[in-house]
Amino acid sequence: MYVKKRADGICEGCGKEAPFVTPQGRPYLEAHHVRRVSDGGPDHPRWVIALCPNCHRQVHHGQDGEQYNKRLASQLDEIELS
Ligand SMILES: [Zn+2]
Ligand SMILES: [Zn+2]
Repeated sequence: MYVKKRADGICEGCGKEAPFVTPQGRPYLEAHHVRRVSDGGPDHPRWVIALCPNCHRQVHHGQDGEQYNKRLASQLDEIELS
């Protein structure tokens, strides 16, 4: 919830607008954990980023997904520490 509010309808990965709006009138973004919960990074906003479906698929299924995830993690550093 907080993460999606923070993103304000903009994908925090590529900076593009959410591709569509939900029936509730909210921009559709997906929450992605940059750390697996098993790594000790639970639901804290520090470890969760709002992504459009494209970016989210890329992190999980892209050839460079792992690298992309690292980039997102350092981006989260900036967002949450600023
Ligand atoms: Zn995106
Ligand atoms: Zn994910």
